[in-house]
Amino acid sequence: MSIYLGIDIGGTNVKMGLIDPQGNIKHRLTYTTLTWRTDGPFEARLAEAIAAYLQQVPPVAGVGIGIPGTLTKDRRTGLEFPNIPELNGVALAAYLEQQFPTLSFWLENDANAAALGEYYFSGEAMPEDYLFVTLGTGVGGAAIIDRKIFIGGDGNSMEIGHVVSRFERRLESNIGKRGIVNMAEAMLNDYWGKTRIVAHKDEPITGRKLITAAEQGDVLALHVLQEVGEILGEGLVSAIRLLDIKTILVGGGLSATFEFILPGIMKIMRHYLTPYYLEPLVIRRARLGNDAGLLGAAALCF
Ligand code: BGC
Repeated sequence: MSIYLGIDIGGTNVKMGLIDPQGNIKHRLTYTTLTWRTDGPFEARLAEAIAAYLQQVPPVAGVGIGIPGTLTKDRRTGLEFPNIPELNGVALAAYLEQQFPTLSFWLENDANAAALGEYYFSGEAMPEDYLFVTLGTGVGGAAIIDRKIFIGGDGNSMEIGHVVSRFERRLESNIGKRGIVNMAEAMLNDYWGKTRIVAHKDEPITGRKLITAAEQGDVLALHVLQEVGEILGEGLVSAIRLLDIKTILVGGGLSATFEFILPGIMKIMRHYLTPYYLEPLVIRRARLGNDAGLLGAAALCF
């Protein structure tokens, strides 16, 4: 049976896994993105990690890589990576093929890959059209229309994290991981005494602490995530109106907070959308959660 290597390059972690054609993750490893960025070149660290991994595992039939940015239409060269600028302009497919002449490499934007992962492996019938949003260090978007990935004119459509949002900033600056943490830090004084998100005012807030606090009903965390939902909702209203898509799936590391951001999203939907859009609207967490990206990366090889 063929086995594939899936790699999901994210702003915080790089995940690698061996995936079978049924979408079972046979084995996985995680690396810290920042280490590769500071000990660059990033692509050389990636190649080393692949080489080390391939020595330990059975031969793979192909390597699929989800990358967190734009890429050329032929899917061979990365263009712009807001959270890993070291990869800007790197001819990644050519570089990796040179390092591993017997292997084929398939690159795709990470959110597109995650949308495909959900399509192939969620184990349920998917609608013909859906929007996939990834929440994490960056905010990514993908649209499946008539069962095909919609890549736009030059190959990089649906960059929802770069839609201009309130405070004249990009959506991702507000609700990417750093933006969310900044928001929580800015609210900390107002909630001091009522929140237990951190024990001291100078203790750093992290995405993980925020998720845990929200699960425990922490008022500060819940307020932040309500805001996140409303800001995301504004971007989604535009996407829904532009594409006429009525199913939205939310994946990525911060999708663990989905139940807490949904009320904010729905508030905005009810405010702006007409019944034609609102009545059939389904917004839910991706079934594969944060694994959609890794599985989708492997699916690029199929
Ligand atoms: C990038 C997108 C990517 C998203 C999630 C954004 O910063 O522009 O291409 O999909 O982060 O990683």
